[in-house]
Amino acid sequence: MQVTRRQFFKIGAAQVAATSLVAMGFSPATALAEVRQFKLARASETRNNCPYCSVGCGIIMYSLGDKAKNARAEIFHIEGDPDHPVSRGSLCPKGAGLLDFVHSPNRLKYPEVREAGSNEWKRIGWHEAIDRIARLMKEDRDANFIKANDKGVPVNRWNTTTFLAASASSNEAGILTQKFARSMGLVAFDAQARVCHGPTVQALATTFGRGGMTNTWVDIKNADFILVMGGNAAEAHPVGFKWAIEAKKTRGAKLVVVDPRFNRTAAVADYYMPIRVGTDIAFLGGVVNWLIANEKIHWEYVKAYTNASFIVAEGFHFDEGLFSGYDEAKGKYDRSSWNYEFDASGNAKVDETLQHPRCVWQLMKAHYARYTPEMVEQICGTPKADFLKLAGWLGELAVPEKVGTILYALGWTQHTVGTQNIRTMAMIQLLLGNIGMPGGGVNALRGHSNIQGLSDLGLLSTSLPGYLTLPSEAHVDLKTYLDKTTPKAARPDQLNYWGNTPKFFVSLMKWFWGDKATKDNDWGYDWLPKWDRMYDVLQSAELMHQGRMNGLVCQGFNPLAAFPDKNKMSGALAKLKWMVTIDPLATETASFWQNHGESNDVNPADIRTTVFRLPSTCFAEEDGAIVNSSRWLQWHWKGADAPGEAKADTEIIAELFVRLRELYKADGGTAPEPILNLAWPYRDPKNPLPEELAKELNGRALADIPDPKEPGKTLVKKGEQIPGFAVLQDDGSTMSACWIFAGSWTQAGNQMARRDNTDTGHGNTPGWAWAWPANRRILYNRASADPAGKPWDPKRKLISWNGEKWVGADVPDYKIDSPPNSGMSPFIMNHEGVGRLFAVDRCSDGPFPEHYEPMESPIGTNPLHPKVVSSPAVRIFKGDRERLGTSADYPYVGTTYRLTEHFLFWTKNSKLNAIAQPEQFVEIGEALAKEKGIVQGDTVKLDSKRGFIKAKAVVTKRIKPLTVDGRTVHQIGIPLHWGFEGQTRKGFIANTLAPFVGDCNTQTPEYKAFLVNIAKV
Ligand code: SF4
Repeated sequence: MQVTRRQFFKIGAAQVAATSLVAMGFSPATALAEVRQFKLARASETRNNCPYCSVGCGIIMYSLGDKAKNARAEIFHIEGDPDHPVSRGSLCPKGAGLLDFVHSPNRLKYPEVREAGSNEWKRIGWHEAIDRIARLMKEDRDANFIKANDKGVPVNRWNTTTFLAASASSNEAGILTQKFARSMGLVAFDAQARVCHGPTVQALATTFGRGGMTNTWVDIKNADFILVMGGNAAEAHPVGFKWAIEAKKTRGAKLVVVDPRFNRTAAVADYYMPIRVGTDIAFLGGVVNWLIANEKIHWEYVKAYTNASFIVAEGFHFDEGLFSGYDEAKGKYDRSSWNYEFDASGNAKVDETLQHPRCVWQLMKAHYARYTPEMVEQICGTPKADFLKLAGWLGELAVPEKVGTILYALGWTQHTVGTQNIRTMAMIQLLLGNIGMPGGGVNALRGHSNIQGLSDLGLLSTSLPGYLTLPSEAHVDLKTYLDKTTPKAARPDQLNYWGNTPKFFVSLMKWFWGDKATKDNDWGYDWLPKWDRMYDVLQSAELMHQGRMNGLVCQGFNPLAAFPDKNKMSGALAKLKWMVTIDPLATETASFWQNHGESNDVNPADIRTTVFRLPSTCFAEEDGAIVNSSRWLQWHWKGADAPGEAKADTEIIAELFVRLRELYKADGGTAPEPILNLAWPYRDPKNPLPEELAKELNGRALADIPDPKEPGKTLVKKGEQIPGFAVLQDDGSTMSACWIFAGSWTQAGNQMARRDNTDTGHGNTPGWAWAWPANRRILYNRASADPAGKPWDPKRKLISWNGEKWVGADVPDYKIDSPPNSGMSPFIMNHEGVGRLFAVDRCSDGPFPEHYEPMESPIGTNPLHPKVVSSPAVRIFKGDRERLGTSADYPYVGTTYRLTEHFLFWTKNSKLNAIAQPEQFVEIGEALAKEKGIVQGDTVKLDSKRGFIKAKAVVTKRIKPLTVDGRTVHQIGIPLHWGFEGQTRKGFIANTLAPFVGDCNTQTPEYKAFLVNIAKV
């Protein structure tokens, strides 16, 4: 209300009245002229990180209240942190909507239960919820726990309950979940990584030695050439992508996009070329062939730093689509012939001339000779001229002074050949000498904010923290396990860092079982569950579907929406006796028993699953660390309490564990030892502090550690935090929950909380947070210099030898005092010291990537070998083979993806994001729309053999028909983000359409290439 000074005094004749009016906000013009008080003036600021994607942007949360005792903080504003070296104050539309996530009306506030057959949620107390869940878990565990296998080997496993772990919870919640799950004997234990970047870990670890993104977000600015393929960085990782734009602006880098759609990355690229989904190996195999045929190879790098010269054992061959050792009945390979030829001392033989007919170079050359530019066009639909342009640009990088990078994400991982897609590009980067270089690398753009961290913590069926392997039945005792999992150097003078496996493993066992883990009981080895098969998400869901699983715990996971073939998944959940969800938000999984019309057409009365819905805190309401794609562990701080009675995951897991332990103490039960003996040394056993858990992740000395270089001197005193993994011991004198995180919380304090953004060169900011391993930012950086230690490119000098040790802008990824020309190679995690062009026996489907068609192929043949069309080693169950369609009934190719305004199935709960993208749609090309009589805005129905969705049609020029193997192939784009919960309009779960098949290496499902039909509704 505007009033003049005269009017004001007319209104308020009496002073008292005027005073009251002032208090009500009516005041003279002079007062009215005052600027409204700055809303952040008296706010408390708290640093945190965006919890959506793995760019890990810095945010500042502003809350009311000074956090004094009894003052309840309330977050009322969130903005980008200008100090953050990657985001520098930016947030994308997802990050910009964070406040609406924190205050979403879909936040859960109280524990609830949906009883068997009921049609409603009922509020219950925490005590009742925890007690009932603990009793259900104990009942199932006691009845079904397997103590020993039929050979009498202790296996201590519980495989009738599945635990799905979160993707965005902190490392501290993750490690406590690991401790809880393994002490119970759970083997059906998996995380979001399985359905996103599992293939990245397998492919990159196989090739280079570690499974993480090789370089950093900021380092992209150092590239001369950027290929975005198998991803859409501008849309899925918008703030990280700005470093690609920086490279374009500051160094004139060329940006090229290869994608089925002309996407938002393509919109700012220098060149775009189309490709049929699921044919990336054919394309990249064509690049390998072209580079070899045109001598565009960084020869010195390839000879010194790859296994090109290694001689492969006799018996290896590849014919008509099959590698040696294939067993058709099992659908699996015997990989024994996929190895090197060794001499009498156990060293792999090499031929430095690269002429031996069985050396890797010659085998690789022959393997890819079939991938001609014509074959690329025939399989991929990419015009030959486009392909040759890209091959030529990549070829220009085969010199020391030019470096290129690749940015990829789920467009490569979510395929039946996901691992090998990435392997092919990793090989190309080795051929070009781009690994270890600033501006180079294979940059896996992780999806979720902490899926890197939760992979590091081994929340996967057959893993343990730090990429150790969970023992299987074949590892009958500790000695066998360590013998089989500890590699021996395969060439003289190699560091072979995994040779330290016993130190990492024993230190882990001391964390699990503390004083109860002794040399006499093999550090509690028998208490760890031993797996008989991989209980990945596909396997667990299959067992649910068969009625062989009784319980499921979903922690920050929404499998009904996230797993393929929603109808199968819904049927599987309905066969469970009980299910628990732990989530800040209402999810479709928790409500799978509710009828939502066509989008979830079920009858609640028929579903006997008891469902507990436990409310948890979100990122803004807890302390802890998450790991971004660049492997940075960034500590964040709590800005406010959670709504209602929501609790942190750590508290929920701890309460559940304590209750179970009480039950085992009081009532006994099957195999109580691993539970009763578990180390649980927390100040409040029902609510461990993040700081306590973070310190355990780093590890500490349990006895004085002597200095091996100076007898009589102590390296670390008993009780002190260890400075790094180099001091870990295999005699029980150290403990560490995750050896690769050693160094993150030392005697000097919490290294993850550091916020010094000083650039030490090439955009490196080693004082910001802490990166694994050992705060190295660019992995394999010894390879940025030649064997004599001279940088390949003086302008890109990263580390150098100062006469005594390696020093530079980054922490050397090498033995620090090993001089140049020592013979030690830069890939220190590989037992042969070099990057692997030939993957030896590390992959299930071959040592060289080979093109196989998607399981649902629009052409129904494989032009390279018509008798072997799709992956012969694919992960598929019998019933799911019957749920595959053919192009006769489903003639179009469907592919799923994300939009920049949404993050998977979360942001539909956030108002701002719901406004930005309110309604479900699919993208179809103009030619197909015309053929089917569909116009913009029509509602269309998409069918696959497994079900249907309905959505609005967006008719676009962005998707063009391709000519593949002589026929026209239309592709349809299916954004993922809708469901029947949230603030958006109700929609269908897109993964209703995707097939229940997986990559044979990692079991990551195929979401990107399947067959559909489309019709106007
Ligand atoms: S979603 Fe990713 S890019 Fe967007 S603000 Fe969050 S971390 Fe940054």
